[in-house]
Amino acid sequence: FAPWDDPAEKPLIQFRNVTKRFGDFTAIDNINLDIYTREFFALLGPSGCGKTTLMRMLAGFETPTEGTILLSGQDIGPVPPNQRAVNMMFQSYALFPHLSVWENIAFGLKREGKDKATIETRVHEMLKLTRLEKFARRKPHQISGGQRQRVALARSLAKAPKLLLLDEPLGALDKKLREETQFELMDIQEKTGTTFVIVTHDQEEAMTVASRVAVMDEGELMQVATPDRIYEAPNSVYVADFIGDVNIIEGRAHQAGDKLQIDWAEGQPALFAQTDKNFDMGQTCYIAIRPEKVAISAERPQGANVLQGKVLDIAYLGNLSTYHVQLPTGHVVKAQQANTRRISRREFTWEDDVWVSWSETAGVVLDK
Ligand code: ATP
Repeated sequence: FAPWDDPAEKPLIQFRNVTKRFGDFTAIDNINLDIYTREFFALLGPSGCGKTTLMRMLAGFETPTEGTILLSGQDIGPVPPNQRAVNMMFQSYALFPHLSVWENIAFGLKREGKDKATIETRVHEMLKLTRLEKFARRKPHQISGGQRQRVALARSLAKAPKLLLLDEPLGALDKKLREETQFELMDIQEKTGTTFVIVTHDQEEAMTVASRVAVMDEGELMQVATPDRIYEAPNSVYVADFIGDVNIIEGRAHQAGDKLQIDWAEGQPALFAQTDKNFDMGQTCYIAIRPEKVAISAERPQGANVLQGKVLDIAYLGNLSTYHVQLPTGHVVKAQQANTRRISRREFTWEDDVWVSWSETAGVVLDK
């Protein structure tokens, strides 16, 4: 499922040169973005980067200052929120406390003047989809947080929107329930075939649920790609650093045959990386290496990208251990090891002299 790679596929949503200003503050800066039918699309970025503003424009609660938004090829600028095939589920869920689960789900359908039989059928479908059949007669305060979240979802999907916007939908749930609910959300999205756009600042959540992720910063889209591309092939230091843990080393580039040589510190061996990108001689570049791609050993290993240092800190995370290794230059390199042995011991301890190393293909070279 990769409609974004298929030139014949028509996007469901198109942002065309969309800018949103509040007074002289630019919240969204000339964004172009296509989202496809059946996608589960995540907007990710730090607080204030413009995620909610982008969603509110889709819902019709905000109007772009410049540019157009198309839904199924139609400019939705003049279409009021309640006439768009778009629904928004809020973090607070906004359930009616005095209405039962059944009535909450039926609410929008009733207001639309649907006949009784249609409402019955649809509400029943939604209860089944969200596994709430047993709770239909209860009021919101008589069910758990996770169940309330599902009622809100059922209610948002009852009118069969083309697009469902989810603003931090799992924000109110604790970590374990949140993780379970992510899978449920993916399942429901797949069953209904509705396009979901989710706003979250939890990067693991975005990576888990989404077919594609947009990483935003200060009103701009930094990278739009599948979760694995975002992680393995970030296009900037910003994205590499925002998603997961990473080592970033700054240096100067020199072409060395089919690879890049990076001089990065006096008295330290040059680093080598394979890259398709072209750099000018002496140009500043950054190499980004994920900690799980850095090996740590007591003996000096063979090959390039081998640096000596001392263990500074150890974080034991059960399945993983992360070692912070301080180099003579003062740089700290993070190396992560999987604790897969039956009884895993700490292999290294504080102040141990160790070698960190990584392969020439492990690092991503970036120019900013
Ligand atoms: P968060 O994760 O904290 O919800 P966000 O990425 O969703 O952040 P937005 O709510 O889209 O961010 O806000 C983007 C920027 O636009 C912020 O700097 C915010 O202060 C500003 N902003 C949003 N709405 C308005 C408004 N109505 N008037 C003025 N400024 C606004």
